[in-house]
Amino acid sequence: MKVQMLDLSEQYKIIKHEVLQKLDEVMSSSQFILGSYVKQVENNIAEMSKTKYGIGVANGSDAIHIALQAAGVKAGDEVITTSFTFFATAGAIARANAVPVFVDIDPITYNIDPSKIEEVITEKTKAIIPVHLYGQMADMNPIIEIAEKYKLHVIEDAAQAIGSTYKGKQVGEMSSAATYSFFPTKNLGAYGDGGMVVSNVENLAEQARVIRVHGSKPKYHHHVLGYNSRLDEMQAAVLSVKLPHLPIWSEDRRKHAAYYTEKLNEVLGDRVVTPVEIEGNYHVFHQYTLRVERRDELQSYLKEQGVSTMIYYPIPLHMQPVFKDLGYKVGDLPETEKAAQEALSLPMFPELKREQQDYIIDKIKGFYLK
Ligand SMILES: *Cc1c(COP(=O)(O)O)cnc(C)c1O
Repeated sequence: MKVQMLDLSEQYKIIKHEVLQKLDEVMSSSQFILGSYVKQVENNIAEMSKTKYGIGVANGSDAIHIALQAAGVKAGDEVITTSFTFFATAGAIARANAVPVFVDIDPITYNIDPSKIEEVITEKTKAIIPVHLYGQMADMNPIIEIAEKYKLHVIEDAAQAIGSTYKGKQVGEMSSAATYSFFPTKNLGAYGDGGMVVSNVENLAEQARVIRVHGSKPKYHHHVLGYNSRLDEMQAAVLSVKLPHLPIWSEDRRKHAAYYTEKLNEVLGDRVVTPVEIEGNYHVFHQYTLRVERRDELQSYLKEQGVSTMIYYPIPLHMQPVFKDLGYKVGDLPETEKAAQEALSLPMFPELKREQQDYIIDKIKGFYLK
């Protein structure tokens, strides 16, 4: 048997008719830039996030960059985030000419450890970017409390967590802004790049809207430096078809996660650490990530057996060559560095089949118990 990390083909079969119809509609209308589908998904995703404003942008990386700029983050400002994330989180901070300041993770959730934030706050700190890694929201209450105390913005990197909740609160509801990615592999994936900023803060949303069209407002008048970074109308049309399915797809992911966890825990005990959903959270399992012994060996073994797995993320951002001038060294963020050695993500997508899961579970057991 062969099992891919992610297989989008089954999903396409279900929505194909509607997607093709809507793409044809866009092409027939010739409204390719900021048309009615962009507006529709902005409204629907903002509403889902219990926010007033949604601003569709070109990708999730730009969404973070634009949200930072719209929040007033400037050259030399410091932005606190996690090192255990996709490059774009810190890349967007650096592109805003600000300085990423990394805080270690909570080893249970892999998200930023709020108890370690205050010690890195300085006069220059302007914002905190918690990343809701693998589909589970970071511990937002203490983060918001710290942000209020020091008058900092909180911008949630929710690229992996659309539809997740924390103590009944949606992504975007508690912070200055949240950012989504519609990269094809994300829980709500377009058929190309896409992203969005959602916010309850009127002037931040307004700034973001101006920045995505070259800082132009009114047209051909430029008071701020912007870019060309808009959510494409064709991608918005695809998203408009997929969005109504998202709650069911999240539920399917959760079922698959529960099944993996039940079956792996039955036999493997502490050889594998299965993901933990913190009470009060709704985890949307963008990834199903284990912490395992002999990780690289297991990965090669599974590959030989036809099962693809991924390591998110093998090299923490504070160890990336591009950030060497920040001056971090091995040992600075021990939980992050440990997770980078032990984490292994298994195939996860809504259409994953029981037989495929049984096969994967069987092979993992075989590896450790042989
Ligand atoms: C995917 C991702 C991004 C970037 O999104 P793109 O749309 O690919 O630019 C940012 N942060 C995290 C945590 C991601 O997983």
